[in-house]
Amino acid sequence: MTLSQRYAGSVIDMTTERSTAPDAVLRDSFGRTATDLRISLTDRCNLRCTYCMPAEGLDWLSRSDRLSDDEIVRLASIFVGLGVESIRLTGGEPLVHRTVVDIVRRLAALSPRPELSLTTNGISLDRSAADLVHAGLDRVNISIDTIDRARFAELTRRDRLPDVLRGVAAAAQAGLSPIKINSVLMRDSNLAEAPALLAWALRNGYQLRFIEHMPLDADHIWSRSAMVTAAEILDLLQNSYELAPRGHIGHAPAEEFDVLDGPDRASWASTPGRVGVIASVTRPFCRDCDRLRLTADGQLRTCLFAQTETDLRGPMRAGASDAELGEIIKLAVAGKQAGHGIDAADFVQPLRTMSAIGG
Ligand code: SAM
Repeated sequence: MTLSQRYAGSVIDMTTERSTAPDAVLRDSFGRTATDLRISLTDRCNLRCTYCMPAEGLDWLSRSDRLSDDEIVRLASIFVGLGVESIRLTGGEPLVHRTVVDIVRRLAALSPRPELSLTTNGISLDRSAADLVHAGLDRVNISIDTIDRARFAELTRRDRLPDVLRGVAAAAQAGLSPIKINSVLMRDSNLAEAPALLAWALRNGYQLRFIEHMPLDADHIWSRSAMVTAAEILDLLQNSYELAPRGHIGHAPAEEFDVLDGPDRASWASTPGRVGVIASVTRPFCRDCDRLRLTADGQLRTCLFAQTETDLRGPMRAGASDAELGEIIKLAVAGKQAGHGIDAADFVQPLRTMSAIGG
């Protein structure tokens, strides 16, 4: 009997069962190796970004559905044993998870120690940045789509920009570097603000990256024809800034650019500055994808856009050993799809939204 048959709840397709070698490596059938794990601590969030969540929120996972901290750390240690080198905590909003600092501390004690990062909207980071760094956090990405308070309130349905800006400042103060800022540009909202966002980031020494809107939103407002493309963003920036391409660095999803010249250059924290675009839709980078995602309810996703996921919580709670969970993980990775398929005629948006997967 195979492991996935023994532990009911797993959705592994038996026909994809094959061996992967060497043993401590998570390799898929297209030769890619998974070394980066994103763990969603919670599906809850304190913002309601219009391109992500509905105004009323979603049906949150119950406490018993969510992995406990012990379960998160146990699974993380198994992934690390299988070659995962970096772990990013995300959500939902990871800082609404009360014990996030303790989780960071426990992940930092794993051997080999993974690089630890956090993706956050920055709210309450002013209170936790120093503790997070002390616990072992190495890097932070903060999502800010606009620095105009009224627009922020409209776009996120919450008037929290001052809290977010305090959080960014605290992260810098706590020594997190570089601070990466993620922005999603929406045509009818913050698109024209892109150069001003870049000016703000350059002045403060933050690395800004524009993320293309993806079909992962709860309200299904995404459309290929309306979304703001990377080409459009770069054209807009190049009206004011001189950019020099650096390409993708390692397996990073962002295509990076040095900012050589532009308005108020004397005020920039460093020259050249840096800006990036994450063009998941129009310039997919699936061939180099080294990422895996663990949802807050313990489902392993090998692609943001996958239609299937592999249950790790069920087998774990049914008594599977670390070695057995490792085999389930290896099988899931082996079956990772070649690409996200957004352009395929039969593309269907996954049931889970970005916030429920862990962005
Ligand atoms: N709450 C945290 C935050 O705001 O960074 C982490 C989770 S959030 C889902 C992670 C990132 O996904 C954010 O930068 C957010 O802007 C982005 N995001 C959410 N929905 C998206 C979508 N449909 N397309 C592209 N990016 C999206």
